[in-house]
Amino acid sequence: MATTDTIVAIATAPGDAAIAVTRLSGADAVAIAARCFRGARDPLESGSHRILFGSFVVGADAGGRMATSTGATAPAATPLDTVLLSIFLSPHSYTGEDIVEISSHGGPAVPRVILETLIGAGARPARPGEFTERAYRNGKLDLAQAEAVASIVRARSERSLRAAHATLGGDLSRRIEALDAELVGLLAEVESRLDFPGDVRESADVAAFAARCDASAAALREWIARLPSARRREEGVRVAILGAPNVGKSSLLNALLGYDRAIVDESPGTTRDTIEASIWLDGMEIRLTDTAGLRQATDPVERLGVERTERAAAAADLTILVRDCTRRDAGAAESQRLMGATKGPVIVAWNKSDLERRGPATTAAAEVETVAVRPGGVDTLVAALRAALPRVLGESVAVDLPATSARQEALLIDAAAALERAAGQLRVEDPESVAYDLAAVDLTEARRALGETVGRGVDDAVVAAIFARFCVGK
Ligand code: GDP
Repeated sequence: MATTDTIVAIATAPGDAAIAVTRLSGADAVAIAARCFRGARDPLESGSHRILFGSFVVGADAGGRMATSTGATAPAATPLDTVLLSIFLSPHSYTGEDIVEISSHGGPAVPRVILETLIGAGARPARPGEFTERAYRNGKLDLAQAEAVASIVRARSERSLRAAHATLGGDLSRRIEALDAELVGLLAEVESRLDFPGDVRESADVAAFAARCDASAAALREWIARLPSARRREEGVRVAILGAPNVGKSSLLNALLGYDRAIVDESPGTTRDTIEASIWLDGMEIRLTDTAGLRQATDPVERLGVERTERAAAAADLTILVRDCTRRDAGAAESQRLMGATKGPVIVAWNKSDLERRGPATTAAAEVETVAVRPGGVDTLVAALRAALPRVLGESVAVDLPATSARQEALLIDAAAALERAAGQLRVEDPESVAYDLAAVDLTEARRALGETVGRGVDDAVVAAIFARFCVGK
């Protein structure tokens, strides 16, 4: 894989924005930028500036060079934007190569023109994750840290951001190294006994080895067990808003969001599609899905909406079941059916509690009364959501885990299983029958799996697959 060419990508999200950043990395980064930007005072030269304002001039002269500030510019070279160039010279940069970061105005046009001009001047469009891949290949980050970069971008809560930062800072790598150091010691002991398997004096040691394997496996299992809640923190908590048509689901969503995101209508069945929007609660992204009404749908479009509703219900970590205070006895059967489709806690919101109540009043613990159309009318619901969060996240242990990717989780599971097998080989009644050779194989396998979490012994295809999941410009 050639890593000598100079790559370029827009690093910021597309769309209207005040600022966009385009990134160039490679041996020719400064030279290529120098062909495309004219300095405010001086021409841009390698090593001469760290940060530079310049007016960006589109179109180079015939020789591929930009006219300097004093010389005449080519006819096409009309300044299009004034940009800030931040220059990081190798090895003091993210990738370890020369980097030029171009901060320009945002929006669809400016960064595109900059990108195309830089490509015209000799840069190659970067593949997804290629900047971070170069950082990895140049020894700036290990694989666990590189994956943490993706987690930082994806993080949907303060805690998962902290976890990703911890991994970027080397927390996961240090945990793995500590576990590995223990396994290296164990493996040395086990291998030293390969030649004297039946040594009776060693039987007490064997039990201790088995216990050490068990202890390491248990530490891994505890880590693995807490990953689903850590992942939920990374992905945000998914909340489905369910209920019969016209009970006020869209109004509740709007009230929670504090602005009109969903279309509210008086006729039943108006919210045909699911609508997603997020609120931020206690440092955590709450991803709300407003669903179509759940009555028997007759027309095909509405039926589609109902199917989506059922899917949203099944995928949600938490459900808000909205019911109508004015028709308390209505929709009980439907509600029951719905509850069957959900997993996780259900909060029943008795909405329209400002109106005359009809039907039996049953307000149980997980039930709140709301007025979607009145300021402060959903405070009870927000409080109930907040109270339900710890249960959804399963946060009984306060200690933060370093961010762990799905790839790393699978490897941790492999390592734990191998350690449990090793313990099994060592835990035998008769010391003479201890299969040290098999235990050594299992310990080696555990070390391999642990090592791969931080990139040891990982082949190129795996590395490429990891970076392919990154966004372009990262
Ligand atoms: P959905 O079909 O369940 O999404 O229900 P909507 O949010 O579209 O609301 C249906 C109707 O009930 C609208 O006219 C809302 O203004 C009204 N509505 C919703 N919540 C309340 C409430 O708490 N009190 C009163 N009085 N009206 C409400």
